[in-house]
Amino acid sequence: MITVYNPADGSVVGEAPQMDAAAVRAAVDRTCAAFPVWSRQLARDRSALLRRWFDLVSADRRAFAEIMVKENGKCLSEALGEIDYGLGFIEWYAEEAKRVYGDTIPSHAAGASVLVTKEPVGPTAAITPWNFPFMMICRKIATALAAGCTMIIKPSEETPLTAYKLLDYARQAGIPEGVFEMVTGDPKEIGEIFISDRRIRKISFTGSTAVGKLLASASGATLTRMTLELGGNAPFIVFDDADFDEAVAGAVAAKLRNSGQVCISPNRFYVQDAIYDRFVAAIAEKVWGIEVGDGMREDFVVGPMINQAGVDKVAALVADACDHGARVLTGGKLDALGGLFYEPTVLADMDERAKAAQTEIFGPVLPVYRFTTEEEVISRANNTDYGLVAYAYTRDLGRAFRLSRELEAGMVILNSGSVGTASVPFGGVKESGYGREGSHYGIEEYVDVKYVLMAGLDRRH
Ligand code: NAD
Repeated sequence: MITVYNPADGSVVGEAPQMDAAAVRAAVDRTCAAFPVWSRQLARDRSALLRRWFDLVSADRRAFAEIMVKENGKCLSEALGEIDYGLGFIEWYAEEAKRVYGDTIPSHAAGASVLVTKEPVGPTAAITPWNFPFMMICRKIATALAAGCTMIIKPSEETPLTAYKLLDYARQAGIPEGVFEMVTGDPKEIGEIFISDRRIRKISFTGSTAVGKLLASASGATLTRMTLELGGNAPFIVFDDADFDEAVAGAVAAKLRNSGQVCISPNRFYVQDAIYDRFVAAIAEKVWGIEVGDGMREDFVVGPMINQAGVDKVAALVADACDHGARVLTGGKLDALGGLFYEPTVLADMDERAKAAQTEIFGPVLPVYRFTTEEEVISRANNTDYGLVAYAYTRDLGRAFRLSRELEAGMVILNSGSVGTASVPFGGVKESGYGREGSHYGIEEYVDVKYVLMAGLDRRH
């Protein structure tokens, strides 16, 4: 078995199966065997099962949230928020299942008709990370099932308890074996089994760019379709015409969510000259007032980081930034609680030669850079291999349009620090991956477009 630990105090929370290759292959077989039946079910019936699952989980959201706090460390209010976010995908795709429309195209030949249908791609697989143990699974499985695909999921071995609870509720709702399977064990071995099996027609992966690249290369052998939701290095740009208080609140909320362990977490704050000093002072004051602690409290706290490697990475990046001249305005060290708790940190006067400028920090650190002109900041914001999300605050409409066009990101968020919901397409460009999740675009990842020509229709027999 895999032992699951609470990052807040190191206590054992539970365990999950350490499956060997034979058990994983058996689950893949079930996923493939279930496809012909599931894909032919009426969309309305698939929709009803998703809806029943949504209702069962909704009725027990607190129990899910508590497990998530224990295995992930995020605070209760955030865990409840994640559950609503994740359930939103089940609800959205329960509805969308009934609307996977095709097309007709005016025929190019006499006595013929051209139809375009959307067929589920086949049995699919997914691999998910630990930072959103609930939502990531909902987002993938709900889309796959709505499209008529079956899916096998490998959740993160750091947070498998939320995942298995979701599976349990799916079974209670009537979602059968094979349609939704789950495996845990050796990630590399499971990834290889998924990708080398030609019956698995699509893999959806959310995680680091390093692992995404491994999977993308391996997919060349089988041409398995991929959706890759990978790392980020989000710029957060504040112009001097911005609503100052909104920008401060947006910056701190976006950054400290999940202790900064979020792919869309702002990683580089660019603040324009005229408001720079006032802005860094304001975020330092706000961050200083935020408590660190065990997530079981009802109010917002910054929880522990997921593991020691995460803490070490953040500490090294902060030390390196200081070596490059950054000033620590608040935080900058392990919290007095010890263990995996790191103090929320504001670093001013960042130099782009610091490693933090090109590294996904994945911790509660706000590094602030100064800029002067719009052209300059767009160029600096785009100077990264990543392209998941870019945030900017400005009240100039023309500038807002220019930013939306010129920032190299799958998502541009203007005058808000909040990104996701089920009805919008989530995903990145460059090394943040490809493919989209959420909205009607998300379902396109799980269907093949089929062109059907029906000729000879004008001959009566
Ligand atoms: P990770 O890449 O280490 O792990 C992600 C998943 O991949 C886990 O389930 C892990 O067990 C599995 N895995 C690890 N090695 C594997 C291998 N060789 N073959 C197959 N599977 C393997 O990432 P993580 O540390 O769990 O998550 C953090 C990363 O995920 C960050 O880079 C973050 O930005 C990214 N992320 C991206 C999004 C997004 O939507 N773009 C969302 C959340 C997290």
